[in-house]
Amino acid sequence: MSTKDFIEKDYYKVLGVPKDATEAEIKKAYRKLAREFHPDANKGNAKAEERFKEISEANDVLGDPKKRKEYDEARALFGNGGFRPGPGGAGGSFNFDLGDLFGGGAQGGGQGAGGFGGGLGDVFGGLFNRGSSGTTRVQPRRGQDIDTEVTLSFTEAIEGATVPLRMSSQAPCKACSGTGDANGNPRVCPTCVGTGQVARGSGGGFSLTDPCPDCKGRGLIAENPCEICKGSGRAKSSRTMQVRIPAGVSDSQRIRLRGKGAPGERGGPAGDLYVTVHVDAHPVFGRKGDNLTVTVPVTFSEAALGGEVRVPTLGGPAVTLKVPPGTPNGRTMRARGKGAVRKDGTRGDLLVTVEVSVPTELSGKARDALEAYREATVGEDPRAELFQAAKGA
Ligand SMILES: [Zn+2]
Ligand SMILES: [Zn+2]
Repeated sequence: MSTKDFIEKDYYKVLGVPKDATEAEIKKAYRKLAREFHPDANKGNAKAEERFKEISEANDVLGDPKKRKEYDEARALFGNGGFRPGPGGAGGSFNFDLGDLFGGGAQGGGQGAGGFGGGLGDVFGGLFNRGSSGTTRVQPRRGQDIDTEVTLSFTEAIEGATVPLRMSSQAPCKACSGTGDANGNPRVCPTCVGTGQVARGSGGGFSLTDPCPDCKGRGLIAENPCEICKGSGRAKSSRTMQVRIPAGVSDSQRIRLRGKGAPGERGGPAGDLYVTVHVDAHPVFGRKGDNLTVTVPVTFSEAALGGEVRVPTLGGPAVTLKVPPGTPNGRTMRARGKGAVRKDGTRGDLLVTVEVSVPTELSGKARDALEAYREATVGEDPRAELFQAAKGA
């Protein structure tokens, strides 16, 4: 038996009993199945033989209250995670970070070395080291880290925001005790004999399995499907948390909220919550690191003669910027301290790019003035250098 087996195998499913079955119920289910699949009664039936082995293995663990408790705890640790609320709704992902998970376990003391090995020892040590040590350490266990996502408006990202995050996890359906059956008494699936898997055939020395089509991989068939969970045996439990996103986050940034993950067990610390932030675009302002950007139209005369222009800021009063005489189109100027909030509370700058606007309609007086300007600049050719350079190369 490997740790992987331990995480992957559902011994309750193998014995066809609910998660909260009593010792007597487990014993009864085991005896019935053991009789049914005993090799003596199924001579030459490899499937029955395999099933018998599984039944025995399941009984070894579930039939021993101490082992059963460890098994339940190990599976609870790997069993649920966070869902992202957001456009897609359910179907989010849960990533667990082995390093964090087991690193946290090692903090509890125990095998000293820390890291992967130490953590595993804490989680599974009681079962797998029983032979050598004979003792089980009961230690606090850190809760899971949870990954989720949130979308903020541009302003919320700059200023910081408190947002509700819905965290979902899968729990056994209360109505049917996780069996999926209205009477709490599901039948073991005859197609896969309760394993939940069917062979797809074999090739190249290894065999492949598919989830059983008849029981959808559950190993059990509900004669009277539970109305609450539609026979799946699982229910979604969700909680909503108010989470403070600090000021100055940028799009695609992943922030860590310490202690906001799944609660710890036996007095252990909670895991961390990782939130990947998406930021909506703003119709006026852009963002370059700590700086905000804005494009401001100026008239030709403002650019040529110089002047003062009013520039909007994000969430504050407008500022006045001096445009020096002879400012070219596209020049960027800086309004200090009007940008995004930095970690230390100071602000970046607002980068103001001037864009010379060309009038599409002219009043008679403006037209006369521009005609006069043309006459005054006759002989000036702004393209002279361009043609010179084009010839040279
Ligand atoms: Zn099946
Ligand atoms: Zn149910």
